[in-house]
Amino acid sequence: MLEKKLICTACGSTFSLRENLARCQKCREPLEIEEFISKNIDTEERSDIFKRYKSFFPFQSSCSGLSLGEGMTPLLSAPSFAEKYGVKEIFLKNETVNPTWSFKDRGTAASIHHAIELGFRRIGTVSTGNMAASVAAFGARAGLETTILVKGDIPSEKLNPVAIYNARLIKALGDYDRLYEESLRLGERYGIYFMNSDVPFRVEGSKTIAFEICEQTEFNVPDFVIIPTSAGGNIRGIEKGFREFYKSGLIPHIPTIVAAQAEGCAPIARAYEKNSLTIERFPNPHTVAHAIENPFPPSGNQVLRMLHRQRGVAVAVSEESIYESQLELAGMGLFVQPASAVSLAALKKLRQTGSISSEQRAACILTGSGLKYTAVFDAYNLNAEECLIDDLEKLLAVK
Ligand SMILES: [Zn+2]
Repeated sequence: MLEKKLICTACGSTFSLRENLARCQKCREPLEIEEFISKNIDTEERSDIFKRYKSFFPFQSSCSGLSLGEGMTPLLSAPSFAEKYGVKEIFLKNETVNPTWSFKDRGTAASIHHAIELGFRRIGTVSTGNMAASVAAFGARAGLETTILVKGDIPSEKLNPVAIYNARLIKALGDYDRLYEESLRLGERYGIYFMNSDVPFRVEGSKTIAFEICEQTEFNVPDFVIIPTSAGGNIRGIEKGFREFYKSGLIPHIPTIVAAQAEGCAPIARAYEKNSLTIERFPNPHTVAHAIENPFPPSGNQVLRMLHRQRGVAVAVSEESIYESQLELAGMGLFVQPASAVSLAALKKLRQTGSISSEQRAACILTGSGLKYTAVFDAYNLNAEECLIDDLEKLLAVK
C-alpha cells in the first residue's frame, strides 16, 4: 500500500495512501489510486476477489473474515436480445447476485479493507439505497461501528432494509446535497471513514467488474460496456479496471465506455451533448430509476474527462424505455431495478442511432436487484388466472 499514490484526476496533485482522503486537498475534485500493472491473476482463488486480483490492489494484509462473498458474478450471453436488436453479441453482467443484491458490495468491501488497515473502528456512508444497505451489512460483518446518514423524508420501506443490519441510522434533515461534503468533514474530525459514492477505494472495488468481464470473455472484451451512471464512482472503476488490464497487456483494447442515464436526471449526458467538461446541477430530477437519480454527481466532471479521453459516450433514455427494458429483462429471467434496465435501454438507443453496429458486441451492467424497488409493480398489469380446482384441467388442456 505504501508505495502507491493517490492522484488528483483534475490537477494531478499527489497524496499518500496512508491518509484517508476522498477528494483532492487543493481543488476538491476526485482522487484516483495510481495504476497497477501486472499479469498476475490467482486463477486458483475463486472465493475472494481481493485475493484473486491481489496484484491490482494496494492491500498489505488479506483481511480474511471481512468478505460476504462479493463479486464473481455471472456474465450471461443473451442471444435472443442480440438477434432482436441486430448486434453480434449482448452480455449481461448480473450484479444482482451480490450479498446485498447490488454492485455496491465490491466497493464497500474494498473501502472497509482500507479502513481497517488504517486502524479505523468507525465507518459510515451517505445513502438512501443500495450503498446504505451494503455498508450496514459489511460493517456488521467486520464488527465496526457503522453510521448511515439518510434523507430526512426517507420512507420506511427504504429504511427497514438498512435498519435490519443494526447500524446507527441518522435521518439528516435539510439540504441532502450538503451531506456528502459535511460527512467527509466530520469524518475527518471524529475518525469516521466515510465510504461515500466515489471515494478512491469504492472506485477500486468496481475495477473487479471489468477484471471479471475480461476473464469471462477469455480476454476478448466486448466493443461497448454500458453502465447506469449516477455519482460516477462505478463507471470510473470499471474504466480503470479495463485500463489496467490493457496497460498490463492482458486485453487488446479498452471497450468504449457508455455512461447511461435517465432523461429525467441526466447531468452527465447533458454536459456531454454540449461538449462540456463540467456538469451543471440537473433541475427538478425525476425518474423511476431512483438509484441513479443524482442531480449533481460528485464524480461528474471526472466522468466527462474520462469519456473525452477514451472517446466514450454518454446517453440518456426515456422513462418509457426504462420500463420496457425492465420487463424485457424479466422476460428472460432477470428481475433488475429500473436503474439497471437503463443499460439495456441505452444499448437499444445506441443501436437505433447507429452508434453500435451489427458487427459489434456489447455488455450491459445490471447493477441491482428488482426486489430493491417493488413499488414498480404498480406500473405493470400483473395478474394471475384463477379457477376452481375442479376446473383446472380445462385450463391446462389449452395450450
Ligand atoms: Zn486537484
